[in-house]
Formats: sequence, C-alpha cells, structure tokens
Amino acid sequence: MIVLNYHELAEASPSNAWCLTHETFDTHLALCGDRLISPQRFLEHCPDPNASRTGTILLTFDDGFLSDYTHVYARYVRTNRIPGFMSFIPVDFVGLPGRMSWDMIAELGSGGVAIGSHGMAHIDLTTVSDVELDRELTMSKSILENRLGQPVTLFAFPYGRFSRRVWDAALKAGYTHLFTIQLGYHGGFEPFLYSRLCLTNNMDAEYMRQHLLDPDAMRGLAWRISTNLGLYRQLMRWRYR
Ligand SMILES: [Zn+2]
Repeated sequence: MIVLNYHELAEASPSNAWCLTHETFDTHLALCGDRLISPQRFLEHCPDPNASRTGTILLTFDDGFLSDYTHVYARYVRTNRIPGFMSFIPVDFVGLPGRMSWDMIAELGSGGVAIGSHGMAHIDLTTVSDVELDRELTMSKSILENRLGQPVTLFAFPYGRFSRRVWDAALKAGYTHLFTIQLGYHGGFEPFLYSRLCLTNNMDAEYMRQHLLDPDAMRGLAWRISTNLGLYRQLMRWRYR
C-alpha cells in the first residue's frame, strides 16, 4: 500500500510548493487508475503484513483546506470516481479563510471521508513541552470527536516532524495510526507509523510514475544498507529517540 499526501488544490497559479493545480491532481489520479482504495479498506488491511507490498494507493490531505470539500469531495468522491480519502485537520484552522468549516468537515465525515487530527495549532510537536504536546494531541482529538460524533484515531504529525516521545504521547492519547512524511511503502519502522509521499510542485508526472512503480526507489543509500543488514528499525529508533 502506498500513501500519498496532498495539501491545497487550486485551479491555477499555486501559491506555494505544496499547492498543486487541478490539472496535476487529475494527472496523478490517471496514473493511480484503479489502484486507489478507500480509507476503510486501507485500515482493514493494515494489520496484514503481506498487504504492505500490494500496489494499492490511499489519498490523504493535510491542513483542512477548502479544496478538500469543494474539489476532492464534490468532484470525485460524490461521483464515485475515487473511493474516498483521509483528511487531517488542524483544529485551530477550522473556519479560517481558505479552510473548511465545521459543517463541511462533518459532511465529509458522514460521507465516508476518514477525518484525522493534525493537532491544534499546527506546530512542530518535537519542540514543545510535555503539557503542550498532550494538549495538542488530546484536545484536538476530543474536539473532533465531539463535532463528528465518532472516534478519531488517526493522527498526522505537523510538518511530518516526530520523535519517540511524540509517538508515545500520541499512542497514549488513543491514536492508533500515525502518519509521517517519509518515502517508501506504508509500513514504517514501527507498526503504527505510516509513510507518506508528500507531493510538491517540483515533482513531475515521471517522479509520480516512478514512485507508484517502486515507492522505495528514491530512498537513499543509508536506507538500502541498513535494510539489507536488518538494522533499519534500530537506526530509526536511534535517530528519533
Ligand atoms: Zn500540515
């Protein structure tokens, strides 16, 4: 399983590297073809160790942009052209210009989109105190759960930044699936960590094609050597200690 991570989608003139045009997104969907799966199916298959090497693809969107609702949900999910996606919400951003309202998020949630937390204020959780870390994790979870009327067990680390302290706190807060920004197949070096490819403007269609063929192709030498030696998990646990 491969997990792709998007942010804002725009008709034209992307305002930053993480904003992609509708045309680029269409190109990506065409490359994904019938390999796209729903978040529900993704979560069902997660415990299966053999599932990680299947070619299925999950779409995820971070930061609660309006385009999750106006473009991805309205244009693709409601017409059954894609089987759903995950949307990670930074709670403090809800209702701000260019971001979704609570009503929109609730509609996504009841329409089968899997809603996850992206914290409160979208801060690098590796830099905050234990108290602030707990607040980011637990308050965002309970606010989302109250608004949606359903459990929220998915979390995406803001900026993809995480450490062992951060993931321990997230698990303790009741999250079960934690999404990073790393290359490669969805199975991270811990069973609850899920790698995602974060799409930016400078990745062309060929880059995407390569990633879908072999998500590990662009990983570096350190990964190759440590994986061959069976030391990748140990190395990562040391790196993120
Ligand atoms: Zn973010």
